[in-house]
Amino acid sequence: NLSVRFPVGRKGTGWGQTSYLTAVDDISFTVRKGETLAIVGESGSGKTTAALAIAQLVAGETSGEVVLDGQDIMPAGRDQLRAMRRKVQVIFQDPYSSLNPRKRAEEIVREPLDNLTNKPAREKREIVDRLFQAVGLRPEQKRLFPHQFSGGQRQRIGIARALSTQPEVIICDEPVSALDVAVQAQILNLLRRLQSEFGLTYIFISHDLGVVQHMCDSVAVMYMGKIVEHADRLALFNNPQHPYTAALLSAVPSIDPTLRDHSKRILIPGDPPDPLNLPAGCRFVSRCPVAQLHCRELVPELTGNGTEHLTACHLVDADLVSPMQAVREAE
Ligand code: SF4
Repeated sequence: NLSVRFPVGRKGTGWGQTSYLTAVDDISFTVRKGETLAIVGESGSGKTTAALAIAQLVAGETSGEVVLDGQDIMPAGRDQLRAMRRKVQVIFQDPYSSLNPRKRAEEIVREPLDNLTNKPAREKREIVDRLFQAVGLRPEQKRLFPHQFSGGQRQRIGIARALSTQPEVIICDEPVSALDVAVQAQILNLLRRLQSEFGLTYIFISHDLGVVQHMCDSVAVMYMGKIVEHADRLALFNNPQHPYTAALLSAVPSIDPTLRDHSKRILIPGDPPDPLNLPAGCRFVSRCPVAQLHCRELVPELTGNGTEHLTACHLVDADLVSPMQAVREAE
């Protein structure tokens, strides 16, 4: 039941009245240990806000629970926050702005150890040395500043920094979207190798389904602050249930022989609704090619009809017709 809302000023609300933009609206999902859950969606879907809220890195008001190994890790005080940060780390999107330009690479990687642990200096130096090796950087590069590295190397520094406290969960916030395609592949392969080496659990934020299909075990698709579909990778890529997911997948060419080819494009007309004035029923209703009358009024629940393939769509609810089939027929 994670929600995040931000206070916003609006014309006519007057002093003392605050209206709120709900960026993440009462969503729930599970990530299995050692696996990767991808959260996908377009800009403004709430995917990054949802993931960063887990690490308490959003400025808005957060509510709900984040449960790790059976314990709610939503921190209440400074000590709990330090403990949570040791367990949950983040790799940021932009390797250019996320590294302090005035610090040497070794200081950047050591920073979480300085802030979140009481380890002696010698142990911290040994950890930094090991991490440089683990992410494929040379020992002599430790003394360099961020501007002396390429984009891919900077992201390796960001990854080493995230690993320094031996976290259990790493939130990867579009970790390759600022990089050249050739470098993207190297960083994705590095992330996969580190995952199996250290038993890491990833929450992988991306708008790029081509990247997601190589990285994840399961996928949650978000639209306007809600999860509209959540399933294992193969189930979602081979048998998308929600019309929005089907349209997203139709824009991705696939060369993976285990995945179905959705290359016949499904176009989504119109723009997303105003987040301060959302429809009463399904949030996708204004753009959905198979919308029904009652979709305007009734909110579809995220349900799997007894399976683990969860979808928030009345067509699936009614179990009458496959939304994919309906979308194709509507064309
Ligand atoms: Fe389309 Fe209705 Fe399903 Fe929403 S609930 S995706 S409007 S069919």
